[in-house]
Amino acid sequence: MDRTRAAEADAGARAGAGAASAAGGAGSTSAVGGAGSTSAVGRAGATSAVGRAGATSAGGRAGAVSAVGRAETTSAVGRAGAASAPVTAGASGVVGANLPALRSHNMALVLDLLRTAGAEGISRLELAERTGLTPQAVSKITARLRADGLAAEAGRRASTGGKPRTVLRLVPEAGHAVGLHLDRDELRAVLVDLTGAVVGEERTSLDLGAGPEAVVDAVAREAGALTGRVSGGGAPGGRGTDALLGIGVALPGPLDHARGVLHRVTGFPEWDGFPLRDALARRLGVPVVVDKDTNAAALGLAVAGTGGSFAYLYLGTGLGAGLVIGGSVHRGARTGAGEFGHQVVQLDGPPCGCGNRGCVEALCLAAVARGEADEAARVLGTAAGNLVALLDIDLVLLGGRTITAAPDAFVTGVTAVLDERARRVGETAVPVRIASDGVAEGAAQLVLAPLFGRADG
Ligand SMILES: [Zn+2]
Repeated sequence: MDRTRAAEADAGARAGAGAASAAGGAGSTSAVGGAGSTSAVGRAGATSAVGRAGATSAGGRAGAVSAVGRAETTSAVGRAGAASAPVTAGASGVVGANLPALRSHNMALVLDLLRTAGAEGISRLELAERTGLTPQAVSKITARLRADGLAAEAGRRASTGGKPRTVLRLVPEAGHAVGLHLDRDELRAVLVDLTGAVVGEERTSLDLGAGPEAVVDAVAREAGALTGRVSGGGAPGGRGTDALLGIGVALPGPLDHARGVLHRVTGFPEWDGFPLRDALARRLGVPVVVDKDTNAAALGLAVAGTGGSFAYLYLGTGLGAGLVIGGSVHRGARTGAGEFGHQVVQLDGPPCGCGNRGCVEALCLAAVARGEADEAARVLGTAAGNLVALLDIDLVLLGGRTITAAPDAFVTGVTAVLDERARRVGETAVPVRIASDGVAEGAAQLVLAPLFGRADG
């Protein structure tokens, strides 16, 4: 309790003094942790903050959420340079310690409603109704969001029997994030605003096998080209409203999302153990979050409105799955969930780059290489059927450039397998659809989503 109070007091004191921004430029290193800690964002899946005070705050893995604004924003985390959270500030687990996190949670709820309301905006009364918060609490939160430049008036709307209500909207340009998709042979980078809309894009060839140093160089170059557009190149007097909140990086797994450390990426053993998140954070001076390409894409789809539980099967230069269960990305105990491509479906089958034999990925890619899209789809459908039976999900989404090269063949082939399995057990088949190929956009959501209470895993 005492420590929490102290942290809050400290936060308040720092806020007015323009605490270091998470937005790059001169103050950026504090958010990342000059002392070697890399941002709460990556570690806890929690979040950063926006606005003038703009430092980094963390919640626990329990989905704690971002802080935006002044008091809780700066947080014990920024000061200590390590990822600790208000929730855990009281070692004894004092109940009162939860209050700052709770306030942040409410703020995230309001921000998410502002985000989904779009340019039309939403009134305070509607915000209160939708969140269950009191009108007073909503007013307090919206006042803070407006003071921080995150929300603005979007006009007035007639209301029944009363004076016209002011509606509020999210200010898209109040914050930006960069999303990077590192594929085995290509790098795509996008700059998105707070709503997730792409406002800048770069694409270049990349050799993931060239090793960490060359790849980090390439990533820094592309990210720098994009971030220069919002952070004013670190120009003095840069406004808080163009804050760069961080960089999300998505690439083939397996990897440790919580620590931002790569494992033995199939075909590229030299990456095993490389601390990509910390290396990039040091190089770029902003918070960095690293996740598998499949998880990033699945998060992007969930944030964009795909509801319920679904599997996003990604067939590009490899095969993996992003799993969203009940609206949240399922990463598993060691953030290794979704290694869909290396399930063995043919004992003693052809060798796979992972060391096993008869993996779905090996069989599928071999069929693609032979020009047999129908057979590749049948293999993929079989594996998808296993997954559907195991998890009982609502929807199967297909993505990745191998799929988008022959979308009809894959949707038809996978659907046929699922239909047949469903018919045998007397159930309705789960629908199969093509999803937009948004790995880079999803990577940006690794940074943005926690701000809107969509922190996962
Ligand atoms: Zn394999």
